[in-house]
Amino acid sequence: RAKTDGRGVLRFFEQALDEAARQRRELELDLREAVAQGQFTLAFQPIFDLKADRIGGFEALLRWQHPTRGWLSPTEFIPVAEETGLIVPIGEWVMREACRTAIRWPEHVRIAVNVSALQFRSPGFQSVVLQALAASGLEPRRLEVEITESVFLDGEGPVVALLHRLRAMGVRIALDDFGTGYSSLSYLRSFPFDKIKIDRSFVIPVAEDKSAAAIVQAIIDLAAALKTDTTAEGVETEEQLAALRAQGCGTIQGYLFSRPVDAGAATTMLATPMHAVA
Ligand code: C2E
Ligand code: MG
Ligand code: MG
Ligand code: MG
Repeated sequence: RAKTDGRGVLRFFEQALDEAARQRRELELDLREAVAQGQFTLAFQPIFDLKADRIGGFEALLRWQHPTRGWLSPTEFIPVAEETGLIVPIGEWVMREACRTAIRWPEHVRIAVNVSALQFRSPGFQSVVLQALAASGLEPRRLEVEITESVFLDGEGPVVALLHRLRAMGVRIALDDFGTGYSSLSYLRSFPFDKIKIDRSFVIPVAEDKSAAAIVQAIIDLAAALKTDTTAEGVETEEQLAALRAQGCGTIQGYLFSRPVDAGAATTMLATPMHAVA
């Protein structure tokens, strides 16, 4: 009986694996079509500058209108795009579209673009950035490239060299999801980032939990000592905002201030004075 059970379980897992593999292949085929068919759009989430009391920039966030499954979140398809290398052409489209949109905004407003490790390490990445800037006419200082420490996993040397080349062009570099990786602190020594984005997992409990608050304070103080800006990600409540403000956090991003919006709404938002209360 045990044997039969075992085989049954095995068959169940085999079927589940087949199904997962099938779905993955289907997603891959659909992804190949998506760039050509223009199924991607960008959403823009404001990053609010607490000291200047205005929007300092927007983060571009990829959205996919799948022909049958509707709107898909990047967390559902970016992993497959990375495994298949499709993130390279997709990321190129994102870079161009983000710069093209940002050129319509006032000069103090930046655009932050997420770049996955594989895209960042692809041979053409620097020229993609150059071409997106040239085609749009956007000043390099208005572009902020967001990377995570995963770009360093296969060796730091070439990555740090590329970061310096981008910086020499005038592009800003942000370290995203800070605190969630394995050895974030060592990467802060490898390269002088322009910004550290404090991961949402620390921001969520910042108003209630003493240790989360201590960690956030330490990140903010560390960034200040390194002359690096900070953005708190995923701020949803007035209590979190008040805590972060008291801690000296420079900029905030999250549903409290605004969800990601389309390009038209972003432009309207810039024309409307807004204030972060608390
Ligand atoms: P991320 O770069 O850390 O982006 C922040 C994510 O948090 C976004 O999710 C945003 O919508 C969400 N968020 C912002 N404020 C709040 C909040 O107050 N509460 C909650 N619960 N969530 C909030 P999204 O758009 O689903 O993107 C998820 C991730 O997908 C991004 O995380 C980024 O790693 C990746 N991604 C998005 N767009 C791109 C892209 O164009 N290229 C690449 N390579 N990755 C992208
Ligand atoms: Mg990001
Ligand atoms: Mg993030
Ligand atoms: Mg994140």
